[in-house]
Amino acid sequence: MAERVRPTVARVDLGALKTNYRAIVEYLARERPGGTPGVIAVVKANAYGHGAAQVARALEDAGADLLACADIEEGAGLRAAGVRAEILVFGALSVSDLDGLFDCRLTPTISSPGAARAVQAAAARYKQPLRYHLKIDTGMNRLGFRFDNLRRTLPEVLRSENLDLDAVFTHFATADDPASPLFDEQRRRFDRVLADVQALGARPRYRHAANSAAMLRDPRVWFDRVRPGLLLYGIVPPPVAPAIELTPVMTLASCVVAVKGMRPREVTGYGARFSAERPTTIAIVPAGYADGLDLRLAGRGAVLIRGRRAPIVGSVCMDMLMADVTGMDVSPGDEVVLIGRQGSDRIDAREMADTIGSIPWEIVCRVGSRIERVYA
Ligand SMILES: *Cc1c(COP(=O)(O)O)cnc(C)c1O
Repeated sequence: MAERVRPTVARVDLGALKTNYRAIVEYLARERPGGTPGVIAVVKANAYGHGAAQVARALEDAGADLLACADIEEGAGLRAAGVRAEILVFGALSVSDLDGLFDCRLTPTISSPGAARAVQAAAARYKQPLRYHLKIDTGMNRLGFRFDNLRRTLPEVLRSENLDLDAVFTHFATADDPASPLFDEQRRRFDRVLADVQALGARPRYRHAANSAAMLRDPRVWFDRVRPGLLLYGIVPPPVAPAIELTPVMTLASCVVAVKGMRPREVTGYGARFSAERPTTIAIVPAGYADGLDLRLAGRGAVLIRGRRAPIVGSVCMDMLMADVTGMDVSPGDEVVLIGRQGSDRIDAREMADTIGSIPWEIVCRVGSRIERVYA
């Protein structure tokens, strides 16, 4: 039987992804010709919803030599897809099944004494040396060794017989908030951490700290590598201004499946929240909250049909939504763009996030598993 593709698809432009990767590399080289930092290409969460296998292989093609994912299972998936580059696992490992680190040649992040003991015990069992990245919590209070008592917590980790310290890193809580003083505080704490690590006799090969927003905000936190995620996918974290020319990688599109006339005072959708004030034409689009489209788009957001904005009305249902196309010449089969460009207009993940009070990371990650990713 021929493979079937639903009307709603996420088109993923791997050419744009590679161009974005190269644009980031060129930007770093231009801004810092001596000692240009390398890149850790972040492909966690199914490459921000774009499809981890295809994205990782394309990034490898474009020259990426270090990818990062969230957990061992994601790393195993990348290896199964044929990825050969080094893979860093960001997540906590203290309660994970660690065999995958060895079976799939993954580089762990060690972010607690307990994780260090577990990983050391596993490496001893495998009789293998293992390189790791040490994560320091400089103020986000999520994962990582506290910045202010490393002299107490680190010596035991550094003595782990099978573990080699490859890199030291931290993560910023407010890189995308220009008004927050915590960013500079974290930066200064990390500088002190690097001195402390040195004083404890450790010699990490490199240091890294910057996500997309931090990379665009402050070259002082570039260190030896930067860790862009969102930028790779062609989205600049709000409210940061784009300093690099990037192309959005994902387009979310569908087709009109039905067109319906409503008389004045008739309603559409669950809760009857939209009532026609005049003779109204509604286009039905087969994409709903099961596909990751937020309920709050109803009454706020729009889709592009025939090059124009059609407001989303009524309710976002599980499998469908309705758009007001009154006065437009719309027929079943017409293309509907939910995220992307049509004609001279464009709705991007940043705009959709803003419409519903969310963030663009969530918009792309939420694109549902029912939606086919079509690669070009
Ligand atoms: C997700 C993640 C990144 C990438 O963040 P973006 O804001 O998408 O660039 C970088 N570092 C760590 C530790 C992360 O978890």
